[in-house]
Amino acid sequence: MMDVSLLTVDAVRKGLAERQFTASALVDAFYRKIAAEDKDIHAYLTLSEERARRQAQAIDDLAAKGDPLPPLAGVPVGIKDVMVTKGIRSTAGSKILENFIPPYDCTAVARLEAAGAIVLGKLNCDEFAMGSSNENSAYGPVRNPRDKSRVPGGSSGGSAAAVAAGMAVATLGSDTGGSIRQPAAFCGVVGLMPTYGRISRYGLIAFASSLDHIGPLTRTVKDAALLLGCIAGRDPLDSTSANVPVPDYARELQKPVQGLKLGVPKEYFAEGLDAEVRASVDSAIAGLKNQGCEIVSISLPHTAYAVPAYYVIATAEASANLARFDGVRYGYRSANPQTLSEMYRRSRDEAFGAEVKRRIMLGTYVLSSGYYDAYYLKAQKVRTLITRDFEEAFTRVDAIVTPTTPTPAFKLGEKTDDPLAMYLADIYTVTGDLAGIPGISVPCGNTKAGLPIGLQILGRHFDESTLLRVARAVEQQR
Ligand code: GLN
Repeated sequence: MMDVSLLTVDAVRKGLAERQFTASALVDAFYRKIAAEDKDIHAYLTLSEERARRQAQAIDDLAAKGDPLPPLAGVPVGIKDVMVTKGIRSTAGSKILENFIPPYDCTAVARLEAAGAIVLGKLNCDEFAMGSSNENSAYGPVRNPRDKSRVPGGSSGGSAAAVAAGMAVATLGSDTGGSIRQPAAFCGVVGLMPTYGRISRYGLIAFASSLDHIGPLTRTVKDAALLLGCIAGRDPLDSTSANVPVPDYARELQKPVQGLKLGVPKEYFAEGLDAEVRASVDSAIAGLKNQGCEIVSISLPHTAYAVPAYYVIATAEASANLARFDGVRYGYRSANPQTLSEMYRRSRDEAFGAEVKRRIMLGTYVLSSGYYDAYYLKAQKVRTLITRDFEEAFTRVDAIVTPTTPTPAFKLGEKTDDPLAMYLADIYTVTGDLAGIPGISVPCGNTKAGLPIGLQILGRHFDESTLLRVARAVEQQR
């Protein structure tokens, strides 16, 4: 059977239509690939073989009848383990959900399957999506397929690594402060964080509800467009999902970028930016200029306050969201507690990891009376200023281009003793989450040592189309 590692959505469609392979054969080939390669990478936590084979058979039956195939027919996908899947263990990378079998499906997953995609399994991630390197998973780290001594990024490290290693055609990740775009950049794949509200969060295990987004990681920009089109749109099960029409992104993508105004914010090219990353991003921007974009230098003056504001707001919301894990309703329960409160305390102590505990403590502190105004309220005000920076910029430009990350993928263990250094890996991505605007990371080059570099494109609310167009132009430059 063919090499599955470079397949795209279109290639799967073509292969099925021309009877080069069946969906069932494709699923077998992917599971063989995972068996051979995931021992070293550890992208998958759980395989959903029965469910995958059932879905593949359904697609093959449709094809045999000559019925028209749905848009993602037969496309093998993986799902970050923060999205619940009916009957399939969903851990959020935490020991506290080690044996949790959800009774329902996340909307985004249900929509992918309704569009014909085949769920191969659940992907490793930082515990409750807290991290930038995937080293906070209770099940062990993921390794970067491009250099196994390095991290894949986080928290959607398994989602990025699975696509980069050819162990899925596409995956879903989640982004609260950069967790789709940063691992996409580190692994050399495309990662799209849509506008807040564009994709339902129903069935996404909550980290920080006002910042959490689901989005696709793919090999090509077109595949990101195709997946987004299938999962976006209002969902009555999530009151924050927006009732905004969903365009035909794959068609929008074909429009030329000529005449677009692209802002380059000086704050994203300051101290701390790796020289090779800068050179590669600069040359991608020069290429966009050659394709007829107008490059405008801009300023987003409150950028420096984004990481601190993010770590106040995200931890505050996390401390509230994680209160539900008490050993009573689901998940881990400590053995033989003497009292109810001891059962709560020990269950949480034994099953939450160190980073999750750090955030619960920080979040509880910033919300406590006496500190609320000084920290939480102040951070919310800063969030508004950051949002206004973007609103002002988008009166002058159609999109903003920046590096996705200040450095390429770092070594495993390099930042685990220094949470602050780890938090700074998100310095260019947290702003987009705080403002609720969409962002995409597209590969734009490699370092001399062969590590991938990502270009980030940020856009107006609900204008994913422009981001995808610019990303496609960057992809075509390579
Ligand atoms: N690295 C950031 C954090 O640890 C972002 C995580 C995310 O986007 N889920 O919070």
